[in-house]
Formats: sequence, C-alpha cells, structure tokens
Amino acid sequence: MKIFLSIVLCTVSVLTYAQDNFKLYYEETNNGFKLLADNDEYTPVSTQINLKLENLNSSNGNSNIYVVPAKTKKYTLTELNVIDRRKRVKFGFESAYNYGDHTLKKYNKDFEYYLPFEKGATFWLSQGYNGAVSHKNENALDFKMPVGTKIHAARGGIVVDIEESYSKRCTNPECAKYNNFIVIYHDDGTFAEYTHIKKDGAKVKVGDQVKIGQLIGYSGEVGWATGPHLHFIVFRQTITDRITLKTKFLIGKGKEAIELIEKEQYTRAY
Ligand SMILES: [Zn+2]
Repeated sequence: MKIFLSIVLCTVSVLTYAQDNFKLYYEETNNGFKLLADNDEYTPVSTQINLKLENLNSSNGNSNIYVVPAKTKKYTLTELNVIDRRKRVKFGFESAYNYGDHTLKKYNKDFEYYLPFEKGATFWLSQGYNGAVSHKNENALDFKMPVGTKIHAARGGIVVDIEESYSKRCTNPECAKYNNFIVIYHDDGTFAEYTHIKKDGAKVKVGDQVKIGQLIGYSGEVGWATGPHLHFIVFRQTITDRITLKTKFLIGKGKEAIELIEKEQYTRAY
C-alpha cells in the first residue's frame, strides 16, 4: 500500500472512498452518523482524519489519528452526533493513510536477526548504517552478492508487499522507483524490506507467513543500484515516513548478536 491522501468535502450522500484494501465510509445512527473503516490489509492501517462538520459533534474530536487493526471490518472511528435536529447537517473530511502503526513506540530492540542469506554463506557488508554512498540518515545495510543469490528471511513474519516486475537498473536515485522488493511485517509492528531482488525473484507471495531463515527470493541489482547486492532495512511506518531502525544479528555460534560493521564480512552460522 502506498500512502493515500484525499480530500473529500461533500454532503453526506457520497462519502465513501476506497484504495487498495482500506475503505472509509459512514452509516446512519439514531443520533447522526458513524464513521467506519474496513481494513483488509495484513497489517494495521493508520489514518489521519480532519473532519469538517456542520451541526455535528464528533465523539473523538475533529482531528485525530486512528490505528485500524489488520483484517478488521466495521471499525468505528468516531460518532457524529446531530447538535440541532431542526437544522441541516453536513460533513466531509481530509484524510491520509498508510499501512503500519503510526503510534508504535515499543518494539523488540533485542531481537536477534539471522543474516539474510543461506546458512553457511559469507558476504561482505559493502555499506552500513548511515553509509556515505546512499545510506545517509538511513539505517540500511548492503550485502554485496552476485545476482541470483538466495535471500532468506532475517526474521519471521507475514509478507505484505512485493514488487518483482522491474529489470531496469541505474546508479542515480531517480531509479529507486524501479526497485524490486519484498516487505515482511513482524509481530512487534516493525517491517523489513529486502530490496533489489531480481525480476520475478520472489519465492513468496503476499499473505504468506514466513519463518526466520526461510528462503524468500533471489537477489539482483534492479532499481537504484551500483552493482549486485541486497539492500536490507528494518523500519517502523508512520503515515508519511519510514523510520529505519538499527538491529542486531547473530554472527556465529556462541557469539552474542551485534550490529554489523561496514566493510566486514559475515558468515551465517544459524
Ligand atoms: Zn543500500
């Protein structure tokens, strides 16, 4: 799901919109109306709603951020109660939404990630967190690996987004729109993205539950890339931004999980 911004200013007769698997709509009640959401995504969806009301009171205020749980129908956002029944009522709203829990504060900072490739394999970390080439202000990791290398889940979760249709590559940021990727949602509300996979390189589909260490696809150099590698990020998603997070990886038997260091090579022992 991409962020969706909308302004709906209207009389009550046409207040419904839907995009992807998320829908906002209303129903009449004894006292006025109820604003509802259906979320058919595998993740929570966060939505910011600014209401424009005439002769109506909103039980949750006129401007609010709501987090609608995954796979939920008829989730009540707010109730709009008529103030004076003798006068006409009118309402509309501005809204924006995106997948993920906008309000997420607590997540598992100690999770021990697997290296995102086959057990026994060794790869260089060609660029680390906040790296000078293309990771400025981003907690991203680049593992240099030949096209077609097996990508394994660094953490279990549910597959929520896949792009594998592109084959174009170039070395400037404008090509980021051609990135192929797999996005996995973790049980603590964070996401991982495995980027630059080869065309048709996903071995999973949206809705699949994957286990840590499971084969999920094949690496490539598609999109904004200076050569074959896997770009890996863990992030939490707000309505407008991805906040990338540092994570720790298991790097060898009996060794504690660590943050990876640029220009080191790592072997997956687990
Ligand atoms: Zn990168």
